[in-house]
Amino acid sequence: MATQHQDISRAKSAELFEKAKNFFPGGVNSPVRAFKSVYGTPLFIERGDEAYVWDADGNKFIDFCCSWGPLILGHNNAQIREAVAAQLDKGLSFGAPTRLENELAELILSNNSYIEKLRFVSSGTEAVMSAIRLARGYTKRDKIVKFEGCYHGHSDSLLVKAGSGLVTFGETSSAGVPKSFAEETIVIALDDKKALEEVFIRFPDQIAAVIIEGIPANNGLLLQDQEYIHFLRAITKEHGSLLIFDEVITGFRLGFQGAAHHYAVQPDIITYGKIIGGGMPVGAYGASKEIMSHISPDGGVYQAGTLSGNPIAMVAGIATLTQLAASGFYDKQEQTTKDFVETLRNYIADKNYEVQIFTVGSIFWFAFTAQQRISRAEQIDPQSMEKYKIMHRELLNQGIYFGPSGYEVGFISSAHTEEDLATSIQAIKNALDIVFQ
Ligand SMILES: *Cc1c(COP(=O)(O)O)cnc(C)c1O
Repeated sequence: MATQHQDISRAKSAELFEKAKNFFPGGVNSPVRAFKSVYGTPLFIERGDEAYVWDADGNKFIDFCCSWGPLILGHNNAQIREAVAAQLDKGLSFGAPTRLENELAELILSNNSYIEKLRFVSSGTEAVMSAIRLARGYTKRDKIVKFEGCYHGHSDSLLVKAGSGLVTFGETSSAGVPKSFAEETIVIALDDKKALEEVFIRFPDQIAAVIIEGIPANNGLLLQDQEYIHFLRAITKEHGSLLIFDEVITGFRLGFQGAAHHYAVQPDIITYGKIIGGGMPVGAYGASKEIMSHISPDGGVYQAGTLSGNPIAMVAGIATLTQLAASGFYDKQEQTTKDFVETLRNYIADKNYEVQIFTVGSIFWFAFTAQQRISRAEQIDPQSMEKYKIMHRELLNQGIYFGPSGYEVGFISSAHTEEDLATSIQAIKNALDIVFQ
């Protein structure tokens, strides 16, 4: 019978967390960091290097959270660090154009045939918020459609969840979002053509855009059929609505052309974040020249930012994307992840454990379920998260850091060595034995 490992010391982290509670709501600056969905105190991280992070108590972990996605090259990547250090000598911010913005834009646009122009912002939230405004300005329509189980940052229009009917106005999912805003957002289930058809019947000529995560990866990994995505493309086009791909996670994760290329579909607007800044705050939205001409100062859709195109952030982005553009980078990441997942799947099959591992590119997600396919948020059983909690604690005790919620996906970076992955596989096997004992 599997025996539980002894809990690692979190004394210093606990002390820092108590102090932090005096300063920040819940002791954190972003809610999921508070470890509400898993056991124990959040770990306060002191530093990271390659695939590892060290906490305030000196515990070392192999990190599969990777700052929620940006760190596709692992921690403390030498080229990013040197690029940032070199830029530091020249100044932190000018609020004026720099050649660095051109460089990063050229790197992106010359490797991505799905957008022709872009605008840099400072977060994924800001990118999506701006894309929605652009879609509304461009179509002169107000309503947007989003999908249950897709996260698009915390702007008002998008903190909306499904109402009671198949197709109704959404309900706010946060206090402080005006009801009138929620009424402009319609929320439907993923992978449901009928619901989508119904939307366009109920709200003719009113839908500015349908927004979807390139591959939904913020509420489990909800893989969609290519056929459904193509249906989405066709129906939006037919009704004069824009299709927005939110590629804040999938952009530069599934290759330079992200989910658009993965599904071979041309969205109207694409948003980026996370990897694009290599660990610095950068987001972007892009589209055809024609659609982007509606952004100020060329057009009437206003969008601005004091720190947009920040030089330190730009050089981190350039150093990151330059490494990702190297031939074979993504193939290797995908193969490494496939092997990792396959080894674990074999073990799970041998033991007959009720757990699935869904994967795409270098993203993976553990779902404690017997279902072979999960394409909608409602198919995730909230009860199954109890099993994730046990696995999460057991993994921390064995030096493996997963995101502190069973709804979060994991990432494999290029810094994860074969040895790191072998160690992690053994730890995950042990953890699963404990979950299912
Ligand atoms: C992370 C994320 C966002 C929000 O990005 P922030 O940088 O946290 O504001 C938006 N959309 C998707 C798909 C994301 O994964």
